[in-house]
Amino acid sequence: MQFRDLQRQYEVLKKDIDQAMVDVAGSSNFIMGQPVKELETELAEYVGVKHCLSCANGTDALTLALKVWGVGAGDAVFVPDFTFFASAEVVSLEGATPIFVDVDTDTFNMDCTDLERKIENTINEGKLIPKIIITVDLFGLPAAYPQIRKIADKYHLLILEDGAQGFGGMIDGERACSFGDISTTSFFPAKPLGCYGDGGAIFTDNDEWAALADSYRVHGKGAFKYDNVRIGMNSRLDTLQAAILQVKFKAFKEYELADINVAAAKYTEKLQGKVKTPLIPEGYCSSWAQYTIQLSSKEERDVLQAKLKEQGIPSMVYYPTPMHRQTAYQSLGKNDCPATVRLCDTVLALPLHPYICDEDINAVCNAILK
Ligand SMILES: *Cc1c(COP(=O)(O)O)cnc(C)c1O
Repeated sequence: MQFRDLQRQYEVLKKDIDQAMVDVAGSSNFIMGQPVKELETELAEYVGVKHCLSCANGTDALTLALKVWGVGAGDAVFVPDFTFFASAEVVSLEGATPIFVDVDTDTFNMDCTDLERKIENTINEGKLIPKIIITVDLFGLPAAYPQIRKIADKYHLLILEDGAQGFGGMIDGERACSFGDISTTSFFPAKPLGCYGDGGAIFTDNDEWAALADSYRVHGKGAFKYDNVRIGMNSRLDTLQAAILQVKFKAFKEYELADINVAAAKYTEKLQGKVKTPLIPEGYCSSWAQYTIQLSSKEERDVLQAKLKEQGIPSMVYYPTPMHRQTAYQSLGKNDCPATVRLCDTVLALPLHPYICDEDINAVCNAILK
């Protein structure tokens, strides 16, 4: 059994993916070719924002947003304590300081009460200036944007939506990657919409920010490529990856997103009441980057994972360490995120992808219930 079966997906889409790759090779337009422009237009339309700019990966997408906003030394950026390292790493790389915020144990996303507490603490300490909230749509579920937007407005902060895992999710019919002032995603192969290597994108309605991001992603270009008006990056999406993504995006829209939701619902139906299953709030829709259950203790989680492994069932611990306890962040000093500390000990992600069969879901559930 595969944790996320990319091989099966390739078998289904092989004819179109192979043709797309051959077409790019035939065109020899490997950088910023036609498929890149087309994909950007298709993604912007789907998400419902004015601008989509593709780039080299999801981490660069976050960095581009921070560069556009001029975030740097002395700035405080609020980041969930329970996320992938890149969500905070980019903040530190720009010289700003991440302030870790605890998460809600039902949704795994940023806890609004703790967010407001951490913003107030930062203001009262007076050492850093609050600038940005980086929300993460963890495991495919959009963060609590209606509440977070109110907090952002109250304290005059911008929202950077890290939608690396969230692409395709919704709140009341509005798509993930449209909730931030700038939003980002990743096309790393195992994400909800993945390519065959690294890739990413940023989304915004703001013309000025889009133009700046376009400059930053190509060495700070001005009027043309060899007119360099600012220090930028080399962060483009390969034409080959864009062509592959066009094929995969079509499948994603036509059936993959629907099918993965059906599969997730089957897990919930079988496991509800036996272990803690993921909660999708009213009006929300997840793109199910992960299906994560919670056990009652670290010991129970670790024993279950070992037993599943014995039966050939893969499972993953996302994430084993709170951000504030990462070795790289020890210099930030003490932090208090008890929910995250607990989750790191008790979470377990189960095999899930749009092509998973009922037999596999049943085998996983039966093994857990036993
Ligand atoms: C994967 C991921 C990233 C980074 O994306 P890459 O394309 O691997 O650089 C950032 N944030 C979150 C939450 C992620 O899951």
